[in-house]
Amino acid sequence: MTDTFTFHRGSIPLLISVPHDGRKLPDDVAPAMTKAGRDIPDTDWHVSRLYEFAHGLGASTISAQLSRYVVDLNRPADDTNLYEGQIATGLCPRQTFDGRDIYSDDIAIDVTARVEQFWRPYHARITDTLAEFRQSHGYALLWDAHSIASRVPRLFDGDLPILNIGTWGGRSCDAGIAGDVIEIAENSPFETVVNARFQGGYITRHYGRPADNIQVIQLELAQRAYMDEATRNYDAAKASKLRVTLERMLMAFVGAAKRHIAR
Ligand SMILES: [Zn+2]
Repeated sequence: MTDTFTFHRGSIPLLISVPHDGRKLPDDVAPAMTKAGRDIPDTDWHVSRLYEFAHGLGASTISAQLSRYVVDLNRPADDTNLYEGQIATGLCPRQTFDGRDIYSDDIAIDVTARVEQFWRPYHARITDTLAEFRQSHGYALLWDAHSIASRVPRLFDGDLPILNIGTWGGRSCDAGIAGDVIEIAENSPFETVVNARFQGGYITRHYGRPADNIQVIQLELAQRAYMDEATRNYDAAKASKLRVTLERMLMAFVGAAKRHIAR
């Protein structure tokens, strides 16, 4: 099996996780899929590319190489539903966001094998990296980076705002630190909501432990902010405008965390 994720080691205690921009389908999975499944429409398109600038800030990055349809890294390994009362896709989804079948037949999925092969290595690397950060700097920052189509009627009403900040209702990040990041977003040209439809998935909820100086923020972006959703093409002009705000948000995250730990 090829690498299931790519990892870049930076110099500051910030890790950016990109769990859903992977496009690969293992050879033993793709043939069982429908055309709609192999088209992987629910990919967080180009999010790794969008955040490449963060290497220049000294951030570390981890990006999944496999599609979320193989195993969703932002779901718990026991597949409990994160979004009570709402339609949500699971650990090894069988339907696309818009309700189409991912597999042609009702095939058996070896969930345990997928978790062991693909899910655990990604999470082991996050766990180790955050532990290293805490050891060397006294704190660790994790930014879980996502994007989604602007309209997914089955999941939410209307057009999604551009910047959807999630701190699991305030539990995954110190309020003062999150506040600095939110302030940048709210003063940016982009419509911002906080802890609305996207409060943070498994990664945000599992790793966020502000009392132990592990601060986690999820940012769900509406894809119209940096790409053409119809063609799936990256829009470099739009992306460079968005990048200004992303960079300010990341710098506010780091700056606020440093001040917080110094107190
Ligand atoms: Zn995502």
